Amino acid sequence: MAHVCRNCKRTFSTELELELHRDTCEAASQLVCRECGEKVSERRATRDGWTYRCPNDDCDGSGLGDDLHKADDFSVASSGLR
Ligand SMILES: [Zn+2]
Ligand SMILES: [Zn+2]
Repeated sequence: MAHVCRNCKRTFSTELELELHRDTCEAASQLVCRECGEKVSERRATRDGWTYRCPNDDCDGSGLGDDLHKADDFSVASSGLR
């Protein structure tokens, strides 16, 4: 059975390959930190999928929907589209 990356729809023959790919997938969810203004990948911002924290050492932004926002929502909001 093929393993498909949810983000970019690439397929992999083994789950391990997919796992490895997920770490580097460019289509993975991006978050924007309001504190430092940098884009960070969701995987780097959370360990348990529940608590989010900006991975930048000199930034104390934290909390999804608080300091960290989904880049998708962010770009839609800032482009003025509804
Ligand atoms: Zn992918
Ligand atoms: Zn930050």
